[in-house]
Amino acid sequence: MRFNLKVPTQVFFGENTIKNNCDKFNKIGNRALIVMGGKSAKLNGALSDILIALDSCDKEYYIFDKVEENPSLETIEAGSKLGKAIKADFVIGIGGGSPLDAAKAISLMINNPKLTKESIFSQKNLEGIPVVAVPTTAGTGSEVTQYAIVTDHIGKVKRNLGQTIYPKMAFIDSRYTEKLNIPMTRNTAMDAFSHIVEGYLNRNATEYTDKLSQEALKIWGEALDGLLNGALTKEDRNNLMMSSTLAGAIISKNGTSIPHGMGYALTYHKGVPHGVANCCLYNEYLNSFKNKKKVNNIVNILGFSSLNDLEKAIIKLTQTNNLSITEEEAKKYTDEIWNNKEKLKNHPEDISYDELYNIYYKSLVNSGNIQ
Ligand code: NAP
Ligand code: ZN
Repeated sequence: MRFNLKVPTQVFFGENTIKNNCDKFNKIGNRALIVMGGKSAKLNGALSDILIALDSCDKEYYIFDKVEENPSLETIEAGSKLGKAIKADFVIGIGGGSPLDAAKAISLMINNPKLTKESIFSQKNLEGIPVVAVPTTAGTGSEVTQYAIVTDHIGKVKRNLGQTIYPKMAFIDSRYTEKLNIPMTRNTAMDAFSHIVEGYLNRNATEYTDKLSQEALKIWGEALDGLLNGALTKEDRNNLMMSSTLAGAIISKNGTSIPHGMGYALTYHKGVPHGVANCCLYNEYLNSFKNKKKVNNIVNILGFSSLNDLEKAIIKLTQTNNLSITEEEAKKYTDEIWNNKEKLKNHPEDISYDELYNIYYKSLVNSGNIQ
């Protein structure tokens, strides 16, 4: 292991980590609400490891397995209703970023029973009941971040809940990702890549986070051949998981930046998976970035000889050939981000409306393989 990690979440990383640390459930609570998606947690071994650990500590549990991708506030409300009914005193999220984020939001609603999907954004400094996170994708880093990204159908947007909800413990075992298919592996790996890069090219970047970003990128890069060839070893999977968790620690300190702010519109309006939604904008984003020294560092750490070569790899990994938007859509999405300066604040350079529009336009309207 080649990194130090200081986040409020107690991280247990490694093979069989749940089994090896099941006594850690002794003190966290008595009745768990397990929050997950419909299928994968049952198939990849994560749920069964958790149930064995809970049984060994004599804990009660109930399962809410209705979390969809990009979880909606409606689903979160339904999960919290069950949690309140069974008097859950801790929540375990198992899955990709969607169940982990839903678990965080549900923990908040259980602890604040009057909260509704209408009032949740207007209240500040809320606390939830303890959350345990078990990631089964190597991408979001949600297991160590304070964010919960939800789909708000009233506002027609994907957005962060705006509360600070760090999981109390995270059990991270890359074995759970071994059956993740190649498209999903790439989509999620690109999310981790975008967290590392946006944490690095960031107004809040410090010497400490820069070191962390460079190390995370190096570890991520060790799996790059496997990602490109579509054949990943156990070690590749472990490297992706490690870099994803490190990337989570980086964005928990620095936040993400423009591609995330711009990508949410593509996920909400076009159904583009989260990692792809960010990274399909990356080539124009990196090209428009004025501090070439940092961009060149990224290219060098990944072992490419030019930005152009990195761009070719990004195109292969994001596979956006069938993604298109119109000029009107590009304008509408640019208006959305331009009018929400919060989404621009982490970008360390001046950027104009036209430059933002051009990122959408050149990536998705006028890229040659689209429309
Ligand atoms: P996801 O939406 O959680 O899951 C996508 C799909 O992958 C689901 O169909 C899921 O199936 C399946 N899946 C999950 N683990 C699997 C496994 N081990 N094997 C096979 N299939 C598996 O995907 P995600 O990319 O991890 O999460 C995206 C969400 O996280 C977005 O909402 C994004 O905005 C958010 N996010 C949050 C943060 C944060 O810091 N909080 C950071 C980045 C992104 P099941 O439904 O059956 O489980
Ligand atoms: Zn992300």
